[in-house]
Amino acid sequence: MSIRFASLGSGSKGNGTLITCGDTCLLVDCGFTIKETVKRLAQLGVTEPGSLAGILVTHEHGDHLSGVAPLARRFNLPVWMSYGTRRVARDVKNLTLQLFHAGERLRIGDAEVTPFTVPHDAAEPCQFTFQSPGAKRLVLLTDLGKNTPYVQRNLQGCDGILLECNYDTEMMRDGPYPPALQARITGDYGHLGNQQAAEILASMTYDRLQHIVLSHLSEQNNTPEKAQSAILEAVPERVHERVSVSSQQKGTAVWHEIL
Ligand SMILES: [Zn+2]
Ligand SMILES: [Zn+2]
Repeated sequence: MSIRFASLGSGSKGNGTLITCGDTCLLVDCGFTIKETVKRLAQLGVTEPGSLAGILVTHEHGDHLSGVAPLARRFNLPVWMSYGTRRVARDVKNLTLQLFHAGERLRIGDAEVTPFTVPHDAAEPCQFTFQSPGAKRLVLLTDLGKNTPYVQRNLQGCDGILLECNYDTEMMRDGPYPPALQARITGDYGHLGNQQAAEILASMTYDRLQHIVLSHLSEQNNTPEKAQSAILEAVPERVHERVSVSSQQKGTAVWHEIL
């Protein structure tokens, strides 16, 4: 059984990712208003938001959580989040919540989802791997300050990855952000820069990797061209056509399918 995925939009102004395993379609994070989310879902062919199996939350930052509760209440969708995220989430009124700890395997319809913790300045931030019954494997990896052996283990054998490329080091250094904010973003509990993302990819095997989607690009401190060129330098040429970028405005605009 194949996995399909698409980004509704990615960056500090809002995130949302759709993942379909078999007959189960899940939304990971929602940092958009209901109106904007409904519009972006429809552009990807999801005309009935109530048909989603639920929403998974990575962490409590507004670009991931702000639209979750409104959307879940409007369309009666269950919400999965870590115990740590629940502890700090402000708006959970009237939600059907399913709480988890990192490492617990979740079975949601046809999808097998495994949350794993990442170093990020949030209460219990998790990213996810998705596995379909045919054993295809997709990994989401954004909002982390650095790679760790535990993260690396979760990347093994994946067939697709959404990988954070938040900033270009020189643009960040010469850009508008004050030193304290630069230190936060580039620190161990911040975000992955293009170079760090490239190193993570270079450490992986490519045989199974069908899609590499560069995500969570900063609009001030990065460009799609810079992110892409850092990544292309790190991977062999035969892999180049598998690399694409998700944008803040349009996300991936299309579904990617892992066959
Ligand atoms: Zn974020
Ligand atoms: Zn974050």
